[in-house]
Amino acid sequence: MKSLVFGGPHDVRFGEWEEPSILPGQVLIKVAACGICGTDLHVYKGLPAAWPVPGIRGHEFAGTVLASADDVEGFQDGDRVVVQPLVYCGQCRFCRAGQTNLCANMYLIGGEQPGGFAEQVAVPASSLFKVPENLSLKQAALVETLATSVHAFEQNQSGILRSVAVLGAGAQGLFAVQLARLAGAKLIAVSETVPHRLAVAQQLGATNAINAGQEDVVEAILALTDGEGVDLVIEAAGKVATRQGATQLLRPGGTAIFLALGAELTSIDFMSLVPKELHLRGTQCYTDADFSLAIELLANGEIIVDPLITEMSLENGPAAFEALASNPGEMIKVILEP
Ligand SMILES: [Zn+2]
Ligand SMILES: [Zn+2]
Repeated sequence: MKSLVFGGPHDVRFGEWEEPSILPGQVLIKVAACGICGTDLHVYKGLPAAWPVPGIRGHEFAGTVLASADDVEGFQDGDRVVVQPLVYCGQCRFCRAGQTNLCANMYLIGGEQPGGFAEQVAVPASSLFKVPENLSLKQAALVETLATSVHAFEQNQSGILRSVAVLGAGAQGLFAVQLARLAGAKLIAVSETVPHRLAVAQQLGATNAINAGQEDVVEAILALTDGEGVDLVIEAAGKVATRQGATQLLRPGGTAIFLALGAELTSIDFMSLVPKELHLRGTQCYTDADFSLAIELLANGEIIVDPLITEMSLENGPAAFEALASNPGEMIKVILEP
């Protein structure tokens, strides 16, 4: 079958890969659409990952059921499904506490196991969610990304949200803007260096768009709150400046949630963190509950995805990776279609 084969940093090729066979408990999926994730890009640029090489990445995908193992119930050929790619053990103490996103034994479909940058994938039936009629498979490929933002908002320790700052307006940041709008925030300030992304953020509900290449972001956002700071910061850029900015932008007792990966060490001013009782939280993926909620928010039209999507054929995957890594231009979320 046709697939994108990853051979190492900056090495992605469109080529042939052996067709998967289904094991007990598994379902064979015909991939309709698979998104390129920030994590895929980090690994493409050289971030170390315990993923096999050569291998097939892609963990943000939706498609239709082609076949099921004899012991699988609840799915029929032709069913439209989206894959929750974090496979957890269900046995460790984190899973038993409902924190399946922190599972000690988890693996990723599209990481340790072959993923959706291919015509077909075999996945555990327990990883599948049905896609409602009014959601296209292309839109459903973004459920995974939205589920990550949904989980991030659940880390908020600031109570009622009146003011939110979103640093970085990639797909995560643009979902955060919309979740802030759903939460009823009156002030939703977004910082970003790419003008197109700022324009999309405003279209999706941001009240203030700040070009980080031209303005001092901390100064600009503090001015919007009479110097007090915001209830919640979503840090979705993963840079030293945005991480430090996140802590400087908080009101006393506020929460900063760090979504983005990024290997650079960052120093934080504890002389403001301690007396201001700031909450700094990391966030890791999602649970099945977050995944279900993300499907519902998209199917109800409460969260909009179409302005984020650029569709490309799987064959153009290598060019898409290179463009996203060097100069994304107007691309926000690239969806590859086999
Ligand atoms: Zn992802
Ligand atoms: Zn576990």
